[in-house]
Amino acid sequence: MTKRLSIGVRLTLSYLLIFAVGQCIFGLGMWFILRHNLYDIADDTLEGQIDDARHFLEAQRCDASVSKLQEEVNETYVLEHSGDYLQIQDEHGNWIYRSSFLQQHNLPVVSLNQLKNPSYEDRRVGHRPFRFLSATIDVYGRTFVIQTGIPENDILRTLGLFRRYLLTFAALMLLAASAVGYWLSRRALAPVDDLTRTARNISGTNLSSRLQRLNTGDELQRLSDTLNEMLARIESAFLRVSQFTADASHELRTPISLIRTEAEIALRKSRNELEYQESLRHILQEAERTSSLVEELLSLARADAGRESLDIRRMNLGDTVRQIAIKWQHAMASRQMRFTSNVPVRDVYVVGDTTALSRLLNILLDNAVKYTPSPGTIELILEAENESAVITVRDSGIGISDEDRPRIFERFYRADKARSRELGGAGLGLAIAEWIITQHRGRVTIESTQGQGSSFFVTLPLQNAEDAVFEHTQG
Ligand code: ADP
Repeated sequence: MTKRLSIGVRLTLSYLLIFAVGQCIFGLGMWFILRHNLYDIADDTLEGQIDDARHFLEAQRCDASVSKLQEEVNETYVLEHSGDYLQIQDEHGNWIYRSSFLQQHNLPVVSLNQLKNPSYEDRRVGHRPFRFLSATIDVYGRTFVIQTGIPENDILRTLGLFRRYLLTFAALMLLAASAVGYWLSRRALAPVDDLTRTARNISGTNLSSRLQRLNTGDELQRLSDTLNEMLARIESAFLRVSQFTADASHELRTPISLIRTEAEIALRKSRNELEYQESLRHILQEAERTSSLVEELLSLARADAGRESLDIRRMNLGDTVRQIAIKWQHAMASRQMRFTSNVPVRDVYVVGDTTALSRLLNILLDNAVKYTPSPGTIELILEAENESAVITVRDSGIGISDEDRPRIFERFYRADKARSRELGGAGLGLAIAEWIITQHRGRVTIESTQGQGSSFFVTLPLQNAEDAVFEHTQG
């Protein structure tokens, strides 16, 4: 693969290209203007010479013979420079005047028939460049062909010099422009190099480092700010994961060490069958607790990785709540808890995953039971209003303090760690519940008074029978 040129070099090259094209257009334009002007001046001189000749011929007698004219013209022009490259012929081919230079090189005269209008011509005579003007003039009924020329040496020399200066100057300008262009692009891109350098040094161990904050007020500042915001997000995600791992290991350590201690004590000396049974019961209890903790951890890890797939479809929430109510009715009966449920007879359709919503209800009801000292009351209510279905789980338990309320959905957060653990909780239930609610595009609110009880309200969007397919996106 060919290595691409750096942005700095590419910018400089494009800048140079544009500059060079601009210079070419400017140089060529100037050269043509100068050339045009120089030839204009030369043409003016030639026209002046023709006019002079006309005036001179007009000043002669109208019946002057050819030889008389020859004599007069020669007398005047031989001494004048304007006659150096002049030749005049009358309509019969008689030479009225012919400068010695033109005679020497025998410049052919333009025939009368060809010369309708004055004509300019560049030609070399005797290896020297000339510009000639040929014209006919009528004087007293006689027609003369006049040709006069001026050397083009000066014009060509001026143009040559101009070209040389232009080329030298252009090369110097191009050099200067490339240096300045490169310097400018380096200066403009220097912050990018700085950003790259700092970014290269950021790794998992120093995620708190930030890119140098630029105050340029341009795209680069926006870039560095955006990257810094991204780093902040990555850092907090990274910290959350590290915290989660640390908390998870900590939570797992307790039951495992309890299992180990229980087994060690049991094995220390020989015991009777009852004692062994008691130990194994403890071990089993802790093992069950551990496996449910591992189950919860796995759920959250899969959810984080976006791999916890839900079977989302149109479902009758009424049926699900009713089934859960029946299950809990039996469980509560044995615990001196008064459990009431209120589910509408009509269908309440939502789009969701039956298993996940059952799990959500189990978590909320399990908490209600755990944090309500018996005898107490627990209610499970389903209502359908306007666009939403609202599930309420209400208990008459210990309640949640104002400080704890915003935090109870955090992973491993427990208002009373000891009590929660004693009741078999690891502080993950509500985190899982919240994830399920979010996946169903719902929301949850809590009302609670300490010592009097808590109410959890879960609101889910209703799905009307006619509604189109629910496009579920997992977050
Ligand atoms: P846990 O396994 O500890 O029950 P959860 O995530 O389900 O974890 O709940 C987090 C914390 O929220 C609990 O430890 C408890 O302090 C508080 N909590 C949850 N539900 C209730 C409730 N119905 N009444 C009082 N406190 C509750």
